Amino acid sequence: MMTDIYIHQSDLNQLELCPESLRLKYREPVPERYNSDLSRGNVVHAAIEEVGRHMMVHGEATPINIIERRLEELMEADFANVEWWKQKQDTTAKHIRANFEAWYWGVAPELMPIAIEETFRVLLEETETRRIWLTGTPDWLNHDGRLLDWKNPKPKNMEPNKGFDMHAREMQKTDLQSTVYTYARSVELDEWSPKRFDLCLLMNGEVGWIPIERGPADWEALKDKCRALADLIQAPLSVWPHRWTSWYCNPDWCNHWAECRGKHYDGGAAW
Ligand code: SF4
Repeated sequence: MMTDIYIHQSDLNQLELCPESLRLKYREPVPERYNSDLSRGNVVHAAIEEVGRHMMVHGEATPINIIERRLEELMEADFANVEWWKQKQDTTAKHIRANFEAWYWGVAPELMPIAIEETFRVLLEETETRRIWLTGTPDWLNHDGRLLDWKNPKPKNMEPNKGFDMHAREMQKTDLQSTVYTYARSVELDEWSPKRFDLCLLMNGEVGWIPIERGPADWEALKDKCRALADLIQAPLSVWPHRWTSWYCNPDWCNHWAECRGKHYDGGAAW
């Protein structure tokens, strides 16, 4: 019998945070508590997407007065869903405006998209009994072949150049999204030369770029990684390894804290 296994690119990051949290996400999904960090990223993404779609149709960005009005509308609608204000609402709004403006004036003029937020599903490997598929949704495919991704890091990490070079080197070594997206692009093109995936960090009005190149060796390593995850998914295990050392393992972040580690501390913090 053939088994199809679908791996979303974000599953690979979740696996790094804590394998058991990924098992629980697959088997007993719990909605994430919507917070102001997520809202900041989502609103900026939504506004960039609108401008990008305008560029694809009209060959130029949405006029600033129109998109600034839309940004305010997007904020108002999205803020209504925020359950956890990690930053005050007006501070979140200030960072959203600063990040979007930095992108509009400093990044958009250099770009022209050919695809925006298009979901892919590509085959990674097929054996007699198993197909492994990869899925994901790149933010932006530029006309020069670069895949681009917008990040809106936490305010405390937003000081320009503070640890930025170190962070960039770390991402170039470890980033998984770039490996998955460039692999998917190579499948779509059936062309296997190395490809670029650039992270654009919007940091409270400052722009930082992290260029990442991925090629055949990275894609073969990705296959090993996904094979291991597929084996784990298919294994008759009632629990996967618990990882306590990532930032994610605490009551604020892990959606399964109360039923996992937290149940031994009345659902509260362990420390
Ligand atoms: S509480 Fe910790 S160990 Fe349990 S699933 Fe969440 S991150 Fe993993």
